[in-house]
Amino acid sequence: MKDSILVINCGSSSLKFAILANAGKTTLVEGIADRLGSSESSITFKYDGQKNVIALNDGSHKNAVSQIKLWLENHTSIQASLVGIGHRVVHGGEAFTKSVLINQDVINGITDCAKFAPLHNPAHAKGIEVAFELFEGLPQVAVFDTAFHQTLEPEQYLYPIPMSFYRDHHFRKYGFHGTSYRYISQRLAQISIGSDQQGVLVAHLGNGASTCAISHGKSTDTSMGITPLEGLMMGTRSGSIDPSLISFISQAENITADEALDILSKKSGLLGVSEISNDCRTLEEAMMSGDQRAKLALDMFASRTAKHLASVATSLESIDHLVFTGGIGENSSYLRQAICNNLTALNINIDSTLNENAPRGAEQNITATNSKTTVWVIPTNEELMIALDTISLIQH
Ligand code: AMP
Repeated sequence: MKDSILVINCGSSSLKFAILANAGKTTLVEGIADRLGSSESSITFKYDGQKNVIALNDGSHKNAVSQIKLWLENHTSIQASLVGIGHRVVHGGEAFTKSVLINQDVINGITDCAKFAPLHNPAHAKGIEVAFELFEGLPQVAVFDTAFHQTLEPEQYLYPIPMSFYRDHHFRKYGFHGTSYRYISQRLAQISIGSDQQGVLVAHLGNGASTCAISHGKSTDTSMGITPLEGLMMGTRSGSIDPSLISFISQAENITADEALDILSKKSGLLGVSEISNDCRTLEEAMMSGDQRAKLALDMFASRTAKHLASVATSLESIDHLVFTGGIGENSSYLRQAICNNLTALNINIDSTLNENAPRGAEQNITATNSKTTVWVIPTNEELMIALDTISLIQH
């Protein structure tokens, strides 16, 4: 059937891709081009249970997409089934409230938003331009991480700073992980009929982490802000702090405010507190062998996640569901339990046996009998959403 979509997530030094068929349900091939821009770059294809790594001569984004094209030329039935390309785009600002077919205006719009996502948006624009050049005639769609949160009310998205900053510069909360939240909201409505008429909290916990409140299928508040630095403590990001710390850190270390921000982005969070790793799995292993710093970092992560769940919940009429997703949310029974231990005042309780035995990669209800809120583990699937948006837009 002619319904395959190439999904591309193009970063500054990496390009992840997948080809999805059967209305996004089947992944035919997937892979990643790593260390782009360096002499050690390579591209890995995972196909038919095998991994194939190819060195990239010049490490450019164009070379990476050329390799995907070459691979398709050697797999003609997949090539023939390809009908479109879907791109993940981190920042869509206020211009993009939903996914769109890409034309030059859209590329310009993505480039305009680069001031808020300087590492991501220029790379997305480059990936799109290269894909247009190499896959001439194939329609392309942009799917924005911010779009799902464009339903927030001004009282949620405005910062309490002079209004001129919003009017003149569009400084406001945008929120991220929107494609994941949209997937979770739609999937929950399939497995728990009526949830799209209720209040839903979602914790997307991965190396980047955020929370979202969803009412009647629409985002009503989220923890990330103008950039993905706000909100929860993350792998290497501090999340929300007193902004005065930026000035204190830069004075104490004799560095600029931008350098201090870089520390909050890249050397803080789980890594900064544990002084071991940003990786939850590594920290859980360290904690099991008695490392108190690892335990402190994980318990801080749990406490701050619970706080941000409670915070976004204030935009809901009721908390009917809580969903855990993302690498940590889907896999760490320790953190799910620790987070919910901080939410008992909200009558959110999980069953420890169901939680500990939740099968990897599966959807699971882990609610305790005395909980007012139904608690779920649902693996996210952003690629599926990108493929479905692409199919729907190119059919119109
Ligand atoms: P993501 O950014 O969504 O890919 O999530 C990455 C995070 O998920 C890392 O901190 C991993 O350590 C964590 N993670 C993945 N698998 C597990 C696991 N089995 N137990 C605990 N954490 C995990």
